[in-house]
Amino acid sequence: MAPDCKIEYLSREEIEKLQLVRLKKTVERVFEKSPFYKKMFKEIGFKPSRLKSLKDLSSLPFTQRKDLRNNFPYGFLTVSLQKVVRLHTSTGTTGKPKAVFFTQKDLDQASELIARSMKMTGAKREDIFQNMMSYGLFTGGLIFHYGAEKLGLLVIPSGAGNTERQLELMRDFRTTIVHITPSYALYLADVMEEKGLNPKVDFSLRLAYLGAEPYSEETRKKIEKIFNLNAYNSYGLSEMNGPGVAFECEEKEGMHLWEDNFIPEIINPSTGEVLEDGEEGELVLTSINREAMPILRYRTGDLTFLYPQKCRCGRTHRRISRIKGRTDDMLIVRGVNIFPSEIERVIMGLPGIGRNYQIILERERSLDKLKIKVEVEKGLFNGSLEHLKGVENRIKARLKAELMLTPEVELVEPGSLPTTTGKAKRVIDKRVI
Ligand code: ADP
Ligand code: ZN
Repeated sequence: MAPDCKIEYLSREEIEKLQLVRLKKTVERVFEKSPFYKKMFKEIGFKPSRLKSLKDLSSLPFTQRKDLRNNFPYGFLTVSLQKVVRLHTSTGTTGKPKAVFFTQKDLDQASELIARSMKMTGAKREDIFQNMMSYGLFTGGLIFHYGAEKLGLLVIPSGAGNTERQLELMRDFRTTIVHITPSYALYLADVMEEKGLNPKVDFSLRLAYLGAEPYSEETRKKIEKIFNLNAYNSYGLSEMNGPGVAFECEEKEGMHLWEDNFIPEIINPSTGEVLEDGEEGELVLTSINREAMPILRYRTGDLTFLYPQKCRCGRTHRRISRIKGRTDDMLIVRGVNIFPSEIERVIMGLPGIGRNYQIILERERSLDKLKIKVEVEKGLFNGSLEHLKGVENRIKARLKAELMLTPEVELVEPGSLPTTTGKAKRVIDKRVI
């Protein structure tokens, strides 16, 4: 069934009215049913009836990852187990996995958001969709899968990995849309070329949904160029259903955060103060349309800002910017604060650079040493040494000028750095602190 897209164009007033109704319901629900929130509300002396406007949300404490862990597995549940039909966990990039539960209604709603997001980017029933995200406990597989089915596409549940089989499926069934991590997309292109296949000509791809990990605008452009397709940024986290929390529209300028399901706030990660639209900080989300496990003011750890302007596409749900990284991804190198995504932006924007890189941190006589291994384009190693040196110097100069970093740069052959089919691990921190 076609998703209800009218909701994307509600006036601000209408959205906020809907949000308030849903927020009140959610707050009452967790107060009555969730052991965690029951206790929290009691401790702070909060009664749901005190919540009169959306602004009042900021008087509640944040919910943090550690709260989910400390109340693992059932402390956030607001329905009986009889009503729960699905469990997902986060991939555990940052420690022990967190358990997230869904009722049938939650799953239907999560599918609706995916169907809506896909429709927004021009996916059609006749499209053939290959979902190259890991199936199983990770939400990127199943949650996206059901959304694409809901929109009526032919879904190939290929999962992540097994690259040869992926290519075969893509060619046999003439896949037009893929859902994939950006790092795996670049690796896929390498394998295609190794096999003498042309990513533009020998395949039928027209759209890609890239998400699950931070990446730069430069990387998006690179992927679009290699495959000759339109790539859209897709954001989500298991605690809030998984994918389908925020998604880019055709304007590709920030991701519309589906405000009929989530209330976003941006806070200063050190002080917790709520920031204005346009100011960068940590994204805090409240799920207002969840049955099994709604979460209030959840600190995602993701750094972004809300665009103050309306989107040219006419949709009224506010947009978050490309995620810069997680607060805990920040590296401090000789006193300079830096996110891996900023290094990526600089490197990937330069000519002669290949598709993978790695950041290595070491400590030598109590001084931090930053080393960046960068794959170069094919053929560069057969050229002159001087040319290679030129590329290396250009990387160094750019990093110095833009980020005040003076790393050691090592150029390596295409395909020589480790790859993954899921979330990339770009940073190796060997510093013993
Ligand atoms: P984990 O916390 O174990 O990685 P998830 O699998 O739920 O759990 O991953 C969600 C996280 O993945 C987000 O909080 C965010 O850090 C990252 N992420 C997801 N989509 C994007 C995206 N489009 N851009 C940047 N980061 C993303
Ligand atoms: Zn838009």
